[in-house]
Amino acid sequence: MSDFTLTRGDDGVALITWDLAGKSMNVMSFEGLRELEACIDEVLADDTIKGAVITSGKDSFAGGMDLNVLAKLRDAFDGSPAKGVFEGTMNLHALLRKIELAGMDPKTKAGGKPIVTALPGTALGIGYELPLATHRIFAADNPKARIGLPEIMVGLFPGAGGTTRLTRKLGAMAAAPYLLEGKTLAPDKALRAGLIDEVVAPDELLAKARAWVRAASDADLVKPWDAKGYKMPGGAPYTPAGFPTFLGAAAMVHGKTKGVYPAARALLSAVYEGALLPFDEALKVEARWFTKVVIEPTSGAMIRSLFINKGALEKGAVRPQDIPDQRVQKLGVLGAGMMGAGIALVSAQAGIEVVLIDATEEAAQRGKAYSESFMDKGIARGKATEAKKAELLARITATADYANLAGCDLVVEAVFEDPKVKAEVTAKAEAALGADAIFATNTSTLPISGLAKASARPAQFIGIHFFSPVEKMNLVEIIKGAQTGDRAIAKALDFVRQIRKTPIVVNDSRFFYANRCILPYLNEGIRMVGEGVAPWLVDNAAELLGFPVGPLQLTDEVSLDLGVKIAKATKAAMGDAYPDDDVDAVVFPLYEAGRAGRKAKAGFYAYDDKAKRLGVWPGLGAMFPLADAQPELAAVQNRLMMAQVLEAVRALEDGVLTDIREGDVGAILGWGFAPWSGGPFSWLDRIGAAKAVEICDRLEAAHGPRFRAPALLRDMAASGEGFYARFAPAEAA
Ligand code: NAD
Repeated sequence: MSDFTLTRGDDGVALITWDLAGKSMNVMSFEGLRELEACIDEVLADDTIKGAVITSGKDSFAGGMDLNVLAKLRDAFDGSPAKGVFEGTMNLHALLRKIELAGMDPKTKAGGKPIVTALPGTALGIGYELPLATHRIFAADNPKARIGLPEIMVGLFPGAGGTTRLTRKLGAMAAAPYLLEGKTLAPDKALRAGLIDEVVAPDELLAKARAWVRAASDADLVKPWDAKGYKMPGGAPYTPAGFPTFLGAAAMVHGKTKGVYPAARALLSAVYEGALLPFDEALKVEARWFTKVVIEPTSGAMIRSLFINKGALEKGAVRPQDIPDQRVQKLGVLGAGMMGAGIALVSAQAGIEVVLIDATEEAAQRGKAYSESFMDKGIARGKATEAKKAELLARITATADYANLAGCDLVVEAVFEDPKVKAEVTAKAEAALGADAIFATNTSTLPISGLAKASARPAQFIGIHFFSPVEKMNLVEIIKGAQTGDRAIAKALDFVRQIRKTPIVVNDSRFFYANRCILPYLNEGIRMVGEGVAPWLVDNAAELLGFPVGPLQLTDEVSLDLGVKIAKATKAAMGDAYPDDDVDAVVFPLYEAGRAGRKAKAGFYAYDDKAKRLGVWPGLGAMFPLADAQPELAAVQNRLMMAQVLEAVRALEDGVLTDIREGDVGAILGWGFAPWSGGPFSWLDRIGAAKAVEICDRLEAAHGPRFRAPALLRDMAASGEGFYARFAPAEAA
């Protein structure tokens, strides 16, 4: 089956159509590249062809490189993965350069054949790098389309000439948001930003592109960087205008990435060094840096978790296979508080009809008003319209009457975290629901099997645990109770897919997976404050590991009263075995002093009137004096990292996690676990189990049994095995 086909037009213009059989979106494979090259060779060799339009047979152009192939690229060449990746990349450059120079005379630049791209829709990654090498980019006026280079988001950077071409097209400063942040734009904005050349009505796309090819002159085909006297927009590094840009960019990138993302640094080097060189040499430099990033273990781990496995989970990798489509038609949400209001919003956004119930009609209406103000903000920023808002609000019925739940095929309960209240609403809802409906609880701490006791049909009872704020956090933890049946799991997964979030499925236990791992992280940071470790050392140590927020700041964000509540409940459940008195010795006095966190504008940090975080609260030192001797940065980092990673290993050991892929994806999306590492299990594989055990032994001797290496980790250290090699061998790096 061919990815690219060439058809000749009567007007002398060839149409090269990219259309991967059996896929909804084109992605580039090595096979595809070979076919594209054959089409280009035919265009250039055949005198009866004047030029070509490259387009797609789908409503989008292309989603990018097939990263599954890329991930395997370095293994494909025995002995020297770097050589393999470099040569593969240079072959790609040669093809794109062939398109760009289009057979023109190297000296006079005459005689080339115009080759343009016509994008019916989304064009990402190589799907935009290929157009960048063509002579003109036409895009259909399709507001849903996205154009750009998102490679940096999965730990890569544009390595098919996109880095070099976009920098030379726009200048380093203007190209920065697209290269460094992976920002993508709809066609109209892409046109204004200079990413593409023309936006045309969809039904005129091919005609306009063909007409341009027919009329193009020799001069039209010469790229600015191939013309005499080319100067980089905004200035090259050693010019008065360019100097501050390049200097500032290095500082900005390091500030944002803390040096833990090799791709950002490599990208910047490719841009900087490339800007000092002729174009073809710059491509070679880009290829060298790209190779370095591809063979770096962190890139492999990031691609594996954030692209391959995240995508697989979203597509239903862990869904029970033999259950028919369970998409939700009508959703009931019980409790219109912070979580219920958010769940109603994201569901209505996905086109689902929602019945939002609270104890009173007013409370339910307040929950619905959250969607209203969310849409108002969108309208103010030009991202939504009054019509869209009306449509969305019309899908949400706010009420106190449970009879309205009739016809709901799924209910998500988000009332107070109190088993009695939850039991009461479960019974009330089930009385109004049809026999097939699935009932889900959004509890964050209460075991599902216990809550299911209130249900007359425990096989249809499940946990669907959202994170706050619901509309921003992409992970949803699905929790199986002891009696939860497969249809409930399928229903939960199909619902999560509808609202376009990423699911992981875990077994029932206290705090499930994400909260179970995040609490020890927060606690370890808090403990250190009690020991006299400088609070700024604690939070900076976390940020320098690539965590978005340190444990003290995060505690302020989630609030200390929640900490107090969880501590009391855990202590009540565990009795004398409760291990966190030293944490409570810090949290309780702060809470009692009115420092409940950001919402109280007072916590570990000081805040201004608008709740903007200032510095560490100056009074903290009086409550918890700094120790004379401060630990090394690495010692603080080991404690913060191991606190979470060991809990993830224990969750696997206990059978709460059944799949390390979910453990890695869930950690990154659920609590921002150092994304560069690919997740806790990928991180362990990177340092090796033996080294991890060595760190644990040291930490256990210094800080106690919470750092004792789990038996599973010791076992793996003894066998020399990695987690992926043992638990997901198909994906071991
Ligand atoms: P909230 O206090 O903001 O909202 C709870 C809502 O439930 C209130 O509007 C209340 O009026 C309503 N309610 C109480 N009793 C009711 C009844 N008998 N019938 C109908 N409505 C009733 O709480 P929240 O933060 O939205 O949390 C709700 C649930 O979600 C809890 O189980 C919580 O553990 C869980 N959760 C919270 C978070 C979070 O970060 N806040 C995250 C994940 C899960």
